[in-house]
Amino acid sequence: MSKKFDPATAVQSLEQFGEFGGVNPSITDSATYSFLQENTMIDAFKGEAEGCFLYSRHWNPSNKYLSDALAAMEGTESAWVTGSGMAAITTAILQLCNAGDHIITSVTTYGGTYAFLKNYVKKFNIEVSFVNISDIESIKKAIKPNTKVIYTESMTNPMLQISDIPTISAIAHEHGIKLLVDNTFTPMILSPFKLGADIVVYSMTKFINGKNDCVAGAICASEEFINDISNVNDGTAMLLGPVLDPLRSSSILKNMGTLHIRMVQHGKNAMYLAKKFKEIGLKFNYPGLPNHPGHKLMNSMMNEGFGYSGIIAIDLETTEIATPFMESMQEKGVGYHAVSLGYFKTLFSNSGRSTSSEVPVEIQKEMGLSPGLVRFSVGLDHDIERTFELIKSCLDELK
Ligand code: PLP
Repeated sequence: MSKKFDPATAVQSLEQFGEFGGVNPSITDSATYSFLQENTMIDAFKGEAEGCFLYSRHWNPSNKYLSDALAAMEGTESAWVTGSGMAAITTAILQLCNAGDHIITSVTTYGGTYAFLKNYVKKFNIEVSFVNISDIESIKKAIKPNTKVIYTESMTNPMLQISDIPTISAIAHEHGIKLLVDNTFTPMILSPFKLGADIVVYSMTKFINGKNDCVAGAICASEEFINDISNVNDGTAMLLGPVLDPLRSSSILKNMGTLHIRMVQHGKNAMYLAKKFKEIGLKFNYPGLPNHPGHKLMNSMMNEGFGYSGIIAIDLETTEIATPFMESMQEKGVGYHAVSLGYFKTLFSNSGRSTSSEVPVEIQKEMGLSPGLVRFSVGLDHDIERTFELIKSCLDELK
């Protein structure tokens, strides 16, 4: 089903013009909007004034253009853009769950998501079960009468497990549960909504924007869900106010025009490194190679022609080895010792001590997160052979 879906063409096919025929839509630099007639304003508050904008925390024309591009990419009816990936995740979860509800989540998720689910939602008396998302039986066993959401990342951070979205979606829907998927690692490559997810969230900070110049997020879902989150009376987005600034929406929209090309190049470079890492006998994790436990599953779900993404995790077993290795890589110009991903430069960090540091060490051990795990977000390097030689020279220094 998803094989025939081409998210790049879906985005490219959109025709979005500026008000004077500009090839980029104009930026709407306004917090509020005037109405000629009082009754139209009243209708807008009720969500019944099609095409009218009321206030930019609710909707903004620039945000609408970007949302439309995201909805086209995901194949959803609608989308809404947020000031960060965490804003997208927390807004979607708080919209779906009430006090007393239950969530099932993959234990391996981005550390901020883990912390939100582990430490924060208890304020609202929301209970969370953490499961190994590759263990379908454990998902089934965790379901309770009050389960509202199954949450996972399509490619998990940082273990790079591949979630079986069609199977998990079938289980969720059998029980009236919503499947919420974070697709931050695999835009264009995987289309979770097409595979059965109900809501897809993104940190656009990463691949979608690709410039590392801002944080941003997105929620892609049905029109009903997007209307619900932006409802003036009880919508989580409208009332908590995590909206993205329209200037940023405009710049992210322009970057989306090259996303498909960037994903191909990130994937090509990561595949090159993965093959080289295999040749030199390095312990690593990359879903693009057949030895990865999720490789076949990923093949069965992915859209054609976008590669396997740019994330590789190598396991150097201890922090004592990983730390000088990363410092040396930065010194030699492999890239930057920095968190985050999806940048045109290669970024690397020790996951257990950085983006997953919110996960207690005993849980890290349980999920198999090694203290020496270095996650690479492979950049758009023109000469990836050179990059490999530099990485290898840093590895040789460890001997
Ligand atoms: N989801 C994933 C998979 C991430 O890696 C991150 C950040 O690293 C987030 C969500 C949070 O995004 P943001 O930093 O834009 O809030």
